[in-house]
Amino acid sequence: MSGRIRFRECSVRALQDVRLREALRRATEDLRGKWTRATQELPHFEALRDRAKQIKMHTLLHLDRYLEQLEAQVQARGGVVHWARDAPEACAVVVEICRSAGARTAVKSKSMLTEEIGLNRALMQAGIRVVETDLGEFVVQLDEDRPSHLIAPIIHKRREDVAELFSRHLGTPAHAPVEVLTRAARAHLRQVFLTADVGITGANFLVAETGSVVLVENEGNARMVTTLPRVHIAVAGIEKVIPRLRDLAVFLPLLVRSATGQKLSSYISVISGPRRPTEADGPGEFHLVLVDNRRTAVLADPDLREVLQCLRCGACLNACPVYERVGGHTYGWVYGGPIGAVLTPQLVGISRAPELPYASTLCGACREVCPVRIDIPRMLVHLRARVVSSGGVGLAERLAMRTLGWVLRSPGRYRLGSRLARAVWRVWGDRPIRALGGLRQAWTHARDFPPPASRTFRERWRKWRKPDRRS
Ligand code: SF4
Repeated sequence: MSGRIRFRECSVRALQDVRLREALRRATEDLRGKWTRATQELPHFEALRDRAKQIKMHTLLHLDRYLEQLEAQVQARGGVVHWARDAPEACAVVVEICRSAGARTAVKSKSMLTEEIGLNRALMQAGIRVVETDLGEFVVQLDEDRPSHLIAPIIHKRREDVAELFSRHLGTPAHAPVEVLTRAARAHLRQVFLTADVGITGANFLVAETGSVVLVENEGNARMVTTLPRVHIAVAGIEKVIPRLRDLAVFLPLLVRSATGQKLSSYISVISGPRRPTEADGPGEFHLVLVDNRRTAVLADPDLREVLQCLRCGACLNACPVYERVGGHTYGWVYGGPIGAVLTPQLVGISRAPELPYASTLCGACREVCPVRIDIPRMLVHLRARVVSSGGVGLAERLAMRTLGWVLRSPGRYRLGSRLARAVWRVWGDRPIRALGGLRQAWTHARDFPPPASRTFRERWRKWRKPDRRS
């Protein structure tokens, strides 16, 4: 990513796109309904959330120990572990593994981390053909687009858009129904699977105890990516570790119900190293690339490290009124919605994403639905304070906020200020202001600025409390 993320500018454009808003409204409404049904019927849902939070917190506080255990277990099962400090290093590692394997084609299953590090571009620049095999990601790749949701990458597209795209690239009829489109994608991808040398996946979880990569999916493509090619490379952020295999009993129901509203996803793969001599299927080589890319810096920050507990389920996006109106692309990078507003400034630097912490009404809906109870609103407020202290807002706004803070800290000053405001308004004629100037003009774009009440709440309260008024 280069340059500064312009959330405000992009959201104005997105708000004017009626088709996008309709697509987002329908999809998020549907996902919210599924979330409600799926979580209501899960007994002990709240207790599971508490347990998941505890496990995540504990793991992050002992991450060094669990990462070392994970490395030892992967090696003991014949796998190779690679450590990557940042995105270029992670891409270089994957390219090198592909080159050593003499790979010409790589197939990939859905992975937000590989989006984050720009892996597809790096592979293509190295002359390696890379093909996305998750249906949504396949559409994104064909259209040279970007995913706009953590689990529904083409939430911003309509069926007609996909039909038109497939007709151009795969030769299906222009208005083909969904079944024809999926059949065409499957036929195309089957051929690619059979010729691929390398399979690349992310990881939903990494189990320290067994050195396993856990993949959760519905299409079966990740299963094929990890079994057909002769080399499997899993690329994962270091925060994906959980201590024990039995912890999956806590995380899997939470992840699947929060993401898609299912009881369980169609495929859950637990992969521990390459194929063993007694096994008929599976890759001969297994590599795990553990990526930092600023995660240790986030971990070192006690105010913001909670963000590393994220399961990437997407529930907070579906619940967010801002995301529902502007969509994922508006957030300017890989991660959209509330989690993107918190994570992106930390991964790309707050100076490149100073508007994102403000991309929220702080209504708290994201915190309500998060399976690990991540307090996104708290972190957004914290990041806003950082934007201000790093000079991310103009002098006029800073002065206005300082003055307001000075007034609000003292009851006497507040009383004096409200009396003054009422006096000024009386001169003005007690009318609402229809258009403010300068910094405040955004307020009156869509609403009037009303005159202050003739009496403050305290004045009314005092009067109401008088014995003669109450009798
Ligand atoms: S913050 Fe919570 S709700 Fe949002 S994607 Fe992460 S785990 Fe899911």
